[in-house]
Formats: sequence, structure tokens, C-alpha cells
Amino acid sequence: MPSCERCWGLAYGRAMCDGSKMQSEHYQDLIKENDCTPEQQAGEYAETCKSCGKKCVHEIVHECMNKDCEAFGRDIRVTESGQRKG
Ligand SMILES: [Zn+2]
Ligand SMILES: [Zn+2]
Repeated sequence: MPSCERCWGLAYGRAMCDGSKMQSEHYQDLIKENDCTPEQQAGEYAETCKSCGKKCVHEIVHECMNKDCEAFGRDIRVTESGQRKG
């Protein structure tokens, strides 16, 4: 499961204020506290998914974060071009 970019960003801010935990530990807290939308999880620089039309293609792993989308959990760069490998 790709990371939630929103929570990761918030975790960075928390780690700056509260040095008792690492950013990764704050992140684990935040993903339990927050119920982020696919768009928020995909990040500020998310691309628009061609399958569901939402701006929820994860900016790092290029997977659609929308659970209801047929492209969910797949690298859209691969599915788009058919059988591109490597
Ligand atoms: Zn989140
Ligand atoms: Zn999608």
C-alpha cells in the first residue's frame, strides 16, 4: 500500500514540534487518526486517473488510490501503454 502523502507531510510537521517520536512513528499515528480521501493520499502533485477521472494517482508510485477504480493498486504508466515492461 503506497504511503499517504498528506499524513506523511503532517508527520514531518509533528516530528519538528515533537522530537520524542520519529516522522515514521508520527505517520503511523496519523493514518489511524485521519480518514484521508484518495486525492489527499495521492499528494499535492497527483496526476489525474484516466479510469476514474479523479486527481488521485499517487505522485510517487503512480497508482490510483481510489478503491472503487479499476486502476486501483496498479501502476497507471504500465496499464496505459499496454504491455510495456521494465
Ligand atoms: Zn492520510
Ligand atoms: Zn482511478
